[in-house]
Amino acid sequence: GAVVHWYKCDLRTQDNKALHLASEKAKEKGVPLIAMYIISPQDFEAHLTAPVRVDFILRNLQVLKEDLGKLDIPLHVETVEKRKAIPGRVLELLKEWDASHLFANTEYEVDELRREAKLVHSLLDNDISFEVTPDTCVVSPGELSSGTGKQYSVYSPWYRAWVAYVHSHPDVLDLFGPPSKNPPVARERFSQIFESTTIPSAPANKSITPEEKKRFKSLWPAGEHEAHSRLQRFCTERIKAYADNRNFPSETATSSLSAHYAAGTLSARTAIHTARSHNTSKSLNAGIQGIQTWISEVAWRDFYKHVLAHWPYVCMNKPFKPEYTNINWEYDDANFTAWCTGQTGYPIVDAAMRQLNHMGYMHNRCRMITASFLAKHLLIDWRMGEKYFMEHLIDGDFASNNGGWGFSASTGVDPQPYFRIFNPLLQSEKFDGAGTYIRKWVPELEGVEGKAVHDPYERGAGKVVEKRGYPRPVVVHKESRERCLARYKEGLGRE
Ligand code: FAD
Repeated sequence: GAVVHWYKCDLRTQDNKALHLASEKAKEKGVPLIAMYIISPQDFEAHLTAPVRVDFILRNLQVLKEDLGKLDIPLHVETVEKRKAIPGRVLELLKEWDASHLFANTEYEVDELRREAKLVHSLLDNDISFEVTPDTCVVSPGELSSGTGKQYSVYSPWYRAWVAYVHSHPDVLDLFGPPSKNPPVARERFSQIFESTTIPSAPANKSITPEEKKRFKSLWPAGEHEAHSRLQRFCTERIKAYADNRNFPSETATSSLSAHYAAGTLSARTAIHTARSHNTSKSLNAGIQGIQTWISEVAWRDFYKHVLAHWPYVCMNKPFKPEYTNINWEYDDANFTAWCTGQTGYPIVDAAMRQLNHMGYMHNRCRMITASFLAKHLLIDWRMGEKYFMEHLIDGDFASNNGGWGFSASTGVDPQPYFRIFNPLLQSEKFDGAGTYIRKWVPELEGVEGKAVHDPYERGAGKVVEKRGYPRPVVVHKESRERCLARYKEGLGRE
């Protein structure tokens, strides 16, 4: 016999609920635990997984394989080309290993739920138990509802309920221990997996150049130990000042842990547990302000997963608010390309898009500025931006990305009202006052002094930056603002 843990977005040994349960089951039955990961190029394609993210997943698998190896747990990694074939292949493997139990953590996206539903039937027919357990959120979807029994669609009351829930169920912040070491027989019985499993390079549809590989490796070291040391460093060095500094993209003020939650090398539970242990209060909404604020940010991740689980149609290319379906978007290729490549002539927007293209990451304030700029200033369908982000983010997460875009385009849960339109110049002056972030990412503006860096053509630096090839603004703020207001109003009036 054997017990199997199926790894997905949970590439860690510590504080992994399904892995922990699988290990307990294996111990109880006196059989070895096997871990497995299926690489699905079609899922990467369908879910727009960024090449930088695929690369990160593969590098994390390498570390995971070594960590599990120390516990004599084999990690089987296999590529299955057709995603429809995955349930069938999983069943075959389980039979080959004579497995009686399969464990996995729940994923809430629609495709994943369908795949699991299909597998449940075939496993039942073969007398194999399949336990899918909620793990990714600190408070699982379905646990919180408003006084009238409804799912919250506004963050603040939801967050109050979330905090109250954690306070009244303190065990949700208890961490799950790592799996136990396998019995000695495992090495021999599964010698084939131990000896012949290698982590493949990226599938053809997600391959990257050697230069990118090197760059991503140095920007984003992989593995759960790296995630833990980042978390520790953040909690000892920066979390206290987080509330004051988190909105300034030139500062190293945030945790840079989002890539680790997306790969599952760190759990949100561990993050909050650790942050709380640095606070002067056990309560999540008391004590040091920076810690309270950071915990409330990590909770946004839970919030958007609850939204996705409750309103799965957001997974189907539909705005949360159906009345926003009728906005007449511009599909201007030139403007879209300018936005993607950081050539809009709005320095803060261009700096941010270039950061994304270079690092696979963008600061949160800049995600809001660039998303708003695409949807409102360029009036381009926000779903094109959502897709572009997903295709380039190392931390790409459907629920958070979709939620962030819905917020910025005013089509989602808890949106900013459509008539509140970010002024990119004011945002730039407020959050990158000295222009440090802009100059870092837009070398054409390196030598531009003072306030001109925010708007060089209007502030006397036009000649210099034109020579360096920096474009003029693709739209005029005031005009685009008026166009946006009129277009949203018109769209909302149309049934
Ligand atoms: P910190 O400031 O240290 O925050 C801690 C953690 O809180 C983050 O790691 C993240 O897990 C969570 N968090 C913070 N803000 C948000 C938020 N607004 N929504 C959800 N979770 C949040 N985050 C993703 O993880 N994946 C995405 O695909 C993604 N797409 C986004 C798209 C748009 C348009 C916007 C506006 C935001 C998006 N975010 C996304 C949220 C946020 O920008 C990132 O989580 C954050 O920038 C990551 O950096 P950090 O780890 O240093 O964050």
